[in-house]
Amino acid sequence: MGRRPRHTQGNGAITLTMGKGTKGKKQGLGNGTRLVNAGRDPEYTGAVVNPPVWRASTHLYADTAALKDGTRHNEDGRFFYGRRGAPTQWALCDALTELEPGAAGTVLYPSGVAAIAGALMAVLSPGDVLLVTDNAYEPTRNMATGLLRRFGVEARFVDPLDIDAFEANICPATKAVMLESPGSLTMEVQDIPALAAIARKHGVISIADNTWATPLGFPALERGCDITIMSLTKHVGGHSDLMMGSAAARGDLYGKLRQTAQALGHVVSPDDAALALRSLRTMSLRLERSTQSALAIAKWLEGRDEVAHVLCPLLPGAPGHEMWNRDFTGGCGLFSFILKGRDQAARSWLIDALELFGIGYSWGGYESLAIPFDPAVNRSATPFPPLAWDAGDRYGVRLSIGLEDPQDLIRDLETGFAAMEQE
Ligand SMILES: *Cc1c(COP(=O)(O)O)cnc(C)c1O
Repeated sequence: MGRRPRHTQGNGAITLTMGKGTKGKKQGLGNGTRLVNAGRDPEYTGAVVNPPVWRASTHLYADTAALKDGTRHNEDGRFFYGRRGAPTQWALCDALTELEPGAAGTVLYPSGVAAIAGALMAVLSPGDVLLVTDNAYEPTRNMATGLLRRFGVEARFVDPLDIDAFEANICPATKAVMLESPGSLTMEVQDIPALAAIARKHGVISIADNTWATPLGFPALERGCDITIMSLTKHVGGHSDLMMGSAAARGDLYGKLRQTAQALGHVVSPDDAALALRSLRTMSLRLERSTQSALAIAKWLEGRDEVAHVLCPLLPGAPGHEMWNRDFTGGCGLFSFILKGRDQAARSWLIDALELFGIGYSWGGYESLAIPFDPAVNRSATPFPPLAWDAGDRYGVRLSIGLEDPQDLIRDLETGFAAMEQE
């Protein structure tokens, strides 16, 4: 960053103006360079590398005229009261906006689920229909059939891979569609550019949960989506020690996201924002490493007799690989596999025998995780197992590959498979 710090230090108060967004940022830089430089506005960082942690609820004004002025203006990067954040959170917003081509701004939420709720509440009203792809993250599905239904929104689930059925499901009341690619657990890669274009043609707002790829692997707005959401808990946090979410959008929709988040009182702590910014700097290194390891492990699993299907779009020949290769520039360490004709007990023996993989929810941390999953319970528009599969091949394991050495993880899985054969 070539710009020098320019703190205005008049009567003890630092003057802060607008967030800087993507203005004036150099194009064509690699991901590592972009991550190092994003959101490092000298106005927020001062003379040090990282923005200080501004723990603040009350922002003091010089006099009543300044108070009145601060209350009247509601712009990014302006002090008002802690609920609108302070420079630590604004620096993270700026960084995420700079990483998301096409975004006018980014809103932070206390979790990824809060980001999904915030985005849906920003665009939906009673009487609207929301389309949700059938491979959606379970809390998204539950929000659509629970909370949103209570507020008069009807959710319809659609086959994530059937473009014609998607268009046929759009009716005059359809207001928005929730996309997620690759889908949670079963990892279907959707034709997002086609789905987003159809949505736009019908005046339907497309929202993508882009937690898996991040904008480094899939710039969702550039690919045609209107709003893109991430659980920052996963790759951006990256160390399993914070919860946060984000939503980014173009101008008018960004305004709606922001307005709704303020109305709902969504706010994140400056300590968590500083942690997220710190982790963001290494995100491409972590993603590259876990992607490489995941591919090596997926290839190894493909050769195992105990495995019926490897659901990993990174893997040549696996479902969704061609679409992933066409639309994505990166991946991550999260994928699944389906056991060949085993039962739930055998799967538990496998997972319980793992020593390097933790058993727990979430993903995207530096440590590897394994969980059992049964996607059949979360489906309403598409059958699971798919009709083309052997019906006995239905018990899934989801792996989040971390930063360990892949050969050690493979040895751990070998031990797990051996334990699976116990009587
Ligand atoms: C984890 C997850 C979320 C929710 O994020 P939290 O920060 O845990 O609330 C949303 N979408 C996907 C795809 C996820 O995996």
